[in-house]
Amino acid sequence: MAESLVLTPPATLLKAVPVRNRGARGRPIPVYEVVRRQFSQAADLMELDPDIRRILATTTNEIVVHFPVRMDNGQIEVFTGYRVQHNDVLGPFKGGLRFHPQLELDEVRALATWMTWKTAVARIPFGGAKGGVQIDPARYSRSEIERITRRFCFALGDNIGPEYDIPAPDVNTNAQIMAWFLDTYLSMRPAHERQSAMHVVTGKPLESGGSAGREKATGQGVVFVIQRWAEEHGLDLSKATFFVQGYGNVGSWTARLLQRLGARLVAAEDVTGAIAKPDGLDAEALAEHVRRLGGIRGFAPAVDHESFLATPADIFVPAALENQITGATADLLTVKLVAEAANGPTDPDGDAILRRRGIAILPDILCNAGGVIVSYFEWLQNKRSEYWELEEVDRKLRCKILTAYDRVQDAARQRDVDWRTGAYMVALGYLEAVYKERGIFP
Ligand code: NAD
Repeated sequence: MAESLVLTPPATLLKAVPVRNRGARGRPIPVYEVVRRQFSQAADLMELDPDIRRILATTTNEIVVHFPVRMDNGQIEVFTGYRVQHNDVLGPFKGGLRFHPQLELDEVRALATWMTWKTAVARIPFGGAKGGVQIDPARYSRSEIERITRRFCFALGDNIGPEYDIPAPDVNTNAQIMAWFLDTYLSMRPAHERQSAMHVVTGKPLESGGSAGREKATGQGVVFVIQRWAEEHGLDLSKATFFVQGYGNVGSWTARLLQRLGARLVAAEDVTGAIAKPDGLDAEALAEHVRRLGGIRGFAPAVDHESFLATPADIFVPAALENQITGATADLLTVKLVAEAANGPTDPDGDAILRRRGIAILPDILCNAGGVIVSYFEWLQNKRSEYWELEEVDRKLRCKILTAYDRVQDAARQRDVDWRTGAYMVALGYLEAVYKERGIFP
């Protein structure tokens, strides 16, 4: 889980092995270009109003900050952080904070844009944003990560706010980091405003105003949509097999929840390598192994990346980074369904290959929306000073994400398009309607 990555640096326990996301053929398409192509394809097909198209094709604000932090050895390091706010016509900007050594502005733009589509597909009153720090968290101590987080929050200043832009956890960040972020933000407010600003971040620890069910929410949402897809396609999940790329928050929760339904985890991959066991890996024990050692390596026999992707199974759950299923790798997959738990795991070349080969895709902006849906529930609970029990959160999440599933399915059927394009049409059609009602100031 992200917790162990950040708070128990895996580098001290396991030497991270970079995992390739490219095969011998082809180069991955830059991730912001992926978003542009997906957007253009849907906008063309649905004949999106050209004015609305120009608005949605660009981001609203792009904030780049450079900030100094004192390291444990007394020296100062300067870090680069980003917050891109894509669109807020539906509500406050909303999106995660990522700590990653290769994070750059174009990737944050792409991730922010996907958030706008995702909240529109799920019909929650938020816009799209994303941010993070270009940093390899495994190289820093817990106290350094805390100071980096706090100083990043300070550098963002009034560019975030509980009714304006609300961060949450993403790759290599977690509830602890959200607690530090919250505490720093509140410390910067006048005393009389502090109690009413708890909803400035979501994905907080329960004790600090978090919601029941938020930690597992993204994985839970992935499992709800997989369940629905399996029912509709005659796949008995109690006999199904699956494999997962990424065993952090989203990947490990998806695996554990699918296992509880009887499905068998047959392979997994993270930044430390890939492992496989055709008669089944215990998803709970693997999560515990990752918590203790910082990665999956050593839990079961290792396999190379190509063999991992070629694992015979019913379902593949990419839950790591973008651009994993590309023109170079999509032919390796032999599954029935790709459930996109990560953001942007499939590029347009990979997409075309999967479609040609009859492999179904539950697209990211639908499949992983559970996280932002329960973030919305957390935000509401904070605003109302309420606490919802887990059963209530799960019930409401299931209802919201399956309604979005039906919406996407209807759009794909009506327009005779693939599900990703259908999901885009749902999102863009909704945003277009809102813009037309409200008009453009002045
Ligand atoms: P995390 O940091 O908890 O886990 C990331 C996992 O991916 C780790 O196991 C890491 O080792 C692995 N990984 C990183 N690079 C890899 C590579 N090159 N090859 C294989 N594995 C690699 O992050 P997370 O919160 O679980 O996020 C995972 C994905 O889900 C991201 O795409 C994120 O944007 C998306 N997502 C997260 C949430 C959320 O609520 N956390 C919500 C929606 C979408």
